[in-house]
Amino acid sequence: MKAAVFDKNGIENLKVLDIEKPVPASGEALVKVASAAINPIDDRVINKVDFGGKPHIPGAEVAGVVEEVGDSVKGFSKGDHVIVYPRKFDGTCDMCLAGNEMLCRNGGIFGLATDGGFREYIAVPEANLIKVPEDMNMELAASIPVAALTAYHALAMARLSAGETLYVVGASGNTGMFAVQLGKIQGAHVVAISGKKWLGDFGADTVVDGEALKAETSKPDFKKANVVVHSIGSKEWDRSMSLLDLNGRLVLFGALTGQDVALNVQDLYARQISIVGSTGGSKKEITELVKMAKNLKVRVWKRFPLEKIVEAFEAEHSEERDGRVMLTF
Ligand SMILES: [Zn+2]
Repeated sequence: MKAAVFDKNGIENLKVLDIEKPVPASGEALVKVASAAINPIDDRVINKVDFGGKPHIPGAEVAGVVEEVGDSVKGFSKGDHVIVYPRKFDGTCDMCLAGNEMLCRNGGIFGLATDGGFREYIAVPEANLIKVPEDMNMELAASIPVAALTAYHALAMARLSAGETLYVVGASGNTGMFAVQLGKIQGAHVVAISGKKWLGDFGADTVVDGEALKAETSKPDFKKANVVVHSIGSKEWDRSMSLLDLNGRLVLFGALTGQDVALNVQDLYARQISIVGSTGGSKKEITELVKMAKNLKVRVWKRFPLEKIVEAFEAEHSEERDGRVMLTF
């Protein structure tokens, strides 16, 4: 079977090789991968994480069909459509027992702490498999484990409630397009900060680009945000802080443009702002999301076969990107 493998950091070192098809161990199922999505975490794994020269398969977000099950697998059988919950977790530590598998003290990110899913077949522990309906589009399914789950958990961490105003920065991005949809489903007034008008079809009440927003903020009736969410990092810090209303919550789940920011502590306490970190989501949340998925959609910009994975990463980094970049199998 084919798999994308690297043994030295750098996208240019990612090669599609023929490797042995895995055999599912006890408690595992063999999944034939149908769709996989490219994410910033894969970039980090390929470019930054030191695996000491050991060959590694990246790929954090996949959907597929069960091909074969190992001994003692109870809940799955051949032909089931599945997604992979993207965290390794032990199920026994205090974090897991409290339903925070993404914070497992002995765990890690799928595709980083484990080999990932950019390959034709993958053996996955039953505890990481989530069934999805057979009529679910496989590209939407492949967007639930990281993109949609990150957005869903971020809004939960924000304690977003119906009638509140939610600003999604980078709204056309992988996670942003789901934050917009989920915010709308939860009854918020959703403002998408983006130049992409299609976000209106994804539930944004207002789509506004950076320039237009600047003009809006100077108007006396400008509606500030109860919640701002994004993964942009330091470049977005000042604007997101200024958009927040009294009692506002800023939820951060990434730092794409840099990690260091200057915080005005007086501004923070005087306006009673909460700054909340969010990472991934729990198994309970991914199960809830699958049930809601008939109301969700994904915008795919480009599709590549596994053999063209380096081009897929180039597309992911393109200035023109206008939706997700997916691998199809
Ligand atoms: Zn744990």
